[in-house]
Amino acid sequence: MFDHPSYDHHEGVHFFEDEASGLRAIIAIHSTARGPAAGGCRMWNYETGEQALRDALRLSQGMSFKNAMADLPLGGGKAVIWGNSKTDKSKALFEAFGRAIETLNGAYYTAEDVGIDTSDIGIVASQTQYVAGLDTGAAASGDPSPTTALGIYRGIKACAARAFGSDELKDRRIAVQGVGSVGGYLCDHLAEEGAKLIIADIDQAELEAVRSRTGAEIVAPADIYDVEADIFSPNALGAIINSETLPRLKTKVIAGGANNQLATPEMGYAVKERGILYAPDYVINGGGIINVAAEISGEYSREWVIGKLDTLIDTLGRVLDEALAGDEPTHLVADRMARDRIAAAKPT
Ligand code: NAD
Repeated sequence: MFDHPSYDHHEGVHFFEDEASGLRAIIAIHSTARGPAAGGCRMWNYETGEQALRDALRLSQGMSFKNAMADLPLGGGKAVIWGNSKTDKSKALFEAFGRAIETLNGAYYTAEDVGIDTSDIGIVASQTQYVAGLDTGAAASGDPSPTTALGIYRGIKACAARAFGSDELKDRRIAVQGVGSVGGYLCDHLAEEGAKLIIADIDQAELEAVRSRTGAEIVAPADIYDVEADIFSPNALGAIINSETLPRLKTKVIAGGANNQLATPEMGYAVKERGILYAPDYVINGGGIINVAAEISGEYSREWVIGKLDTLIDTLGRVLDEALAGDEPTHLVADRMARDRIAAAKPT
């Protein structure tokens, strides 16, 4: 465990199994320096337990950095449930997951991520108070995806301002990979401003729904890297900026909601070398956790959420400007800022 390549001084990594329901889950707590660790739960049909562990380690570190960059009083954690979200879900499984969270006594708060929806989280909440992203209850914040998408839309404009000299997106060609919850709402914002959308997804129904609302052009999932576009917006899964895909991109900006977009940190340097401005994923996609943080605080306020979103976009702008001024990759500047913020919160 301590030698795992994705291990980054995580405070705790917890493995849970419930034979009766079939639950196998990992909850990784990267840091609680700024407050309780918060981060969503992902349900994914990993090929091996090692892949599930790697995801939990990387994603929880990402949440620490994300929460720090969103200026939230939260640390970073993440849960992964190993299973098929289309066939393996049950009430018993999410109850067992809720009991697992409760054993951590508030060190970790969960919410939705890929494969998990608000009804699943509702079942989890029957067993633990350390849960957010609910659609009922006094402070319920519901699905975080619309706020995530709003932050990405505003972040794309911040990138465009620097890459093209104008944040205007009318007639800009934007390639969107993944039009699920986040990608779908994002397309609505972009289309409303008159952007020309090219979309790809493995889910035909999602594609058709977005095309009918926005007039987007559909391409095959494997072709999204090759399209002529100004901006590439990844909103599906991680590690999609890699040595195979990067040379194919013709865009000047990469800005999207997917977590852990860079397959390796070295890819951040390669992106810069190609003259592409990359919005660090955990900065630009912080809108969702801001929405969740409002719920964790005990009193949901839309005004507070929008205020934090404004600060987030300012922070993204600072990252981009510092990177451009210092000729550094943007991910490096963001990592440094995040680590500084976490270190500053540690008791001395
Ligand atoms: P989702 O499951 O609703 O959507 C993901 C979409 O990607 C689906 O439509 C899926 O069919 C598609 N997809 C999967 N593999 C693909 C492939 N190879 N090519 C093209 N499309 C593919 O998930 P979501 O909530 O929209 O999250 C999307 C990404 O954003 C994830 O990486 C997630 O971790 C991240 N994220 C989500 C939130 C949020 O608020 N939901 C917040 C921050 C980050």
